[in-house]
Amino acid sequence: MSEFDLKIRSRDIKTLLDQIKKNDPKVNIDIVNKAYEFAESAHRGQLRYSGEPYITHPLEVAITLAILKLDTTTISAALLHDVVEDTQTTIEILKNKFNGELAQLVDGVTKISSIKNKSKFSAQAEYLRKMLIATIKDVRVIIIKLADKLHNMRTIMFQDEEKRKTIAKETLDIYAPIARRLGMSMICSELEDISFHVLFPDEYNRIRDSFSERKTELDSYFDNIKAVLIESFKKFSIETEITGRAKHYYSIYRKMKFQNKDFDSIYDIRAVRIITRDIKDCYAVLGVVHSLWSPITSRFKDYIAVPKSNMYQSLHTTVIGPDGHRLEVQIRTQDMHATAEMGIAAHWLYKEKNLSIGKNYKELTILENINKQFDNTTDIREFMRDLKMDLYEDEIFVFTPKGKIVKLSKESSPIDFAYAIHTEVGEHTTGAMVNKKIVPLRTRLKSGDIIEILTSKNGHPSESWLKLVRSTKARYKIRSWLRKNIEKHPSEETGLKSRREKSKKQEKTVQVTIPVNEHKKLNKMSKKTVPGLSIAGTSNVEIRLSQCCQPIPGDDVIGFITRGRGMTIHKKTCPSLKRLKDESERFIEVVWEGNETEYYPVKIAVFGLDRANLLKDVTDQISLTKTNILKMEANVKDDKTAEIKFILEVKSNTHLNEIMQMIKKIGNITDIYKLNEKVVLNKK
Ligand code: MN
Repeated sequence: MSEFDLKIRSRDIKTLLDQIKKNDPKVNIDIVNKAYEFAESAHRGQLRYSGEPYITHPLEVAITLAILKLDTTTISAALLHDVVEDTQTTIEILKNKFNGELAQLVDGVTKISSIKNKSKFSAQAEYLRKMLIATIKDVRVIIIKLADKLHNMRTIMFQDEEKRKTIAKETLDIYAPIARRLGMSMICSELEDISFHVLFPDEYNRIRDSFSERKTELDSYFDNIKAVLIESFKKFSIETEITGRAKHYYSIYRKMKFQNKDFDSIYDIRAVRIITRDIKDCYAVLGVVHSLWSPITSRFKDYIAVPKSNMYQSLHTTVIGPDGHRLEVQIRTQDMHATAEMGIAAHWLYKEKNLSIGKNYKELTILENINKQFDNTTDIREFMRDLKMDLYEDEIFVFTPKGKIVKLSKESSPIDFAYAIHTEVGEHTTGAMVNKKIVPLRTRLKSGDIIEILTSKNGHPSESWLKLVRSTKARYKIRSWLRKNIEKHPSEETGLKSRREKSKKQEKTVQVTIPVNEHKKLNKMSKKTVPGLSIAGTSNVEIRLSQCCQPIPGDDVIGFITRGRGMTIHKKTCPSLKRLKDESERFIEVVWEGNETEYYPVKIAVFGLDRANLLKDVTDQISLTKTNILKMEANVKDDKTAEIKFILEVKSNTHLNEIMQMIKKIGNITDIYKLNEKVVLNKK
């Protein structure tokens, strides 16, 4: 459906040039032609694992960028992105032959490529992601790198199995999140889906098959919706483009896995996207949609008035569509759609359109660009904060020549680096090379520097080093060496501790178990009767509330007479009832009685973006509803998403809804729902 799905074989320079001309017929393509000729001859004789000439790779990367409508300098840099790494060409040559701007872009991409994520720790991936964003001044470097990654992933089947898994994991850990943060959802989705296919082929195939089984049904549902919409829009002369939403297997998998939902409950939600000519029409379309089908009010989001921090804009609403299916509707203009798919790349281009192409790229970094555009809005501050990682401004991330990441404090010297590698290295340091140039030991390191320490058997620490170092470890080690060698008084210690600290997991888990003093009440759950429930025409029946759907007073319920175990009460919507449908004579109508005197443990999950006091705010809101918290578990992931699970004592679903409404009011909360899993309380 997207242009990315075009088959990748047999595309040539003409495809690239046509795409560029399509974007802007007047653009000068000399530099692109020159870059292609240069790259083609530099890579001549090299082959990809697929057996194709190497040039097919940079060409595909360039085509992706042309589709993203990037400028010709960036496209030319993409054609040349591997020449420094894989051929005799140097950055100097590129600077002379082309220009400094292009050479800098290639240099940036080459630097990223020299970084290998050796560690299996997720903390390392997190560093790397932050470092990439924080150090690269020109965001086009990352855009080229993402396009490079995309083509490598598209051709990953030519790698051997083990390598495939490593690459896919790295893509999922590092590059896909960067693409998402930059709002480049089109690239992000494809990177995720290919990685997902490589890492979890069975799960991938299961989801794909579930989709194809339902294809006819989903297609005809969509056709019907589309016809109804077009008919209505005609009356108001609103011009639109209506599409179904592209399926993204990995996001379905994630929902199934992390939100405990089954495929049916996810696929059950139908989705449609409506693209309009202008903002005014977006709201007109919204009005029409709401007049056709009744909206679920809590699901309406106006991201046009309040854009997301990655610049995403759209109206989101969910309505009860034909046949009672939930229908998610996204409404946005063509420009907003481009931003949604291409993120930062699209936004940037609109801004540049009115300026002479190329000129301003050098002077303004993307961050400054956006900052000007969104002056004084909270969201842009948030966005800047995300990108710049102010939290980390007193830390830098540097690299060993083999690409291992070393975290140091700001203003660290090569000596700090040497000691961070190993005390032995520190104590024999005689000099240092930063980015392949010999530098004095007093040099201050910057994020992204690649450092090589020169050592010699005769080298040893000196008093003057104490003035150069920033880290406690280096200072301590130098002092103890000096003491040992001057006073002949050996002192001993190891660097183990700090290394252990370094690899400490970033994820923090707070588990709070609140002593339950109302066990008696809870135990009634499994007792013979469920108070508050009246059953038509029966008495003295053993009643249990089913564990699969966990009904609470107020829910629409039905009783099922089991063989020998009394009656179980299910919600009428419980999926397990389908299995029992052949035994309809064993179902019995039941109703809840009016007075809510009993409490039921219910598990809920709350999702949000972490911030100070988030947890406290949530628990405060809960206590405002006079609800007892039986258990709570909070989890903050590396990407700052927080997941808080509660077991609460509730009286009824009205009570539960009240609690959920209160929590929804809190800033940063993104999702909240009841979990239908067995509630187990730890009695300790
Ligand atoms: Mn490449």
